[in-house]
Amino acid sequence: MSAPPTAQRRKPPLGVVTRPGTSLRNLTGPWGILRPAFDWNKCTGCNTCETICPEGCIRHLAKKQYEADPDYCKGCGMCAAACPADAITMSAVRS
Ligand code: SF4
Ligand code: SF4
Repeated sequence: MSAPPTAQRRKPPLGVVTRPGTSLRNLTGPWGILRPAFDWNKCTGCNTCETICPEGCIRHLAKKQYEADPDYCKGCGMCAAACPADAITMSAVRS
């Protein structure tokens, strides 16, 4: 298989972050098919989820209360996998 012509390689696919700050304008939330649900009764406030989220979209609302911003959460599940208190459950996005 040969490499695509240079002009084609230079054209980024839709959704690619091409300049600093553009990720704020590209709402990545609709990409996801899963969403995290936070059980505030189980949460210990360790802050692991907020730290590990690759989108930086987990908001710390109050002590032991977190939520994901649906405009940017891509549903990757890293927060749920990393939560030591098993306080985050991934579930399907309802359309
Ligand atoms: S990782 Fe889990 S226990 Fe820690 S702050 Fe987030 S939801 Fe709470
Ligand atoms: S599912 Fe992924 S993108 Fe969404 S809040 Fe958790 S770590 Fe962040």
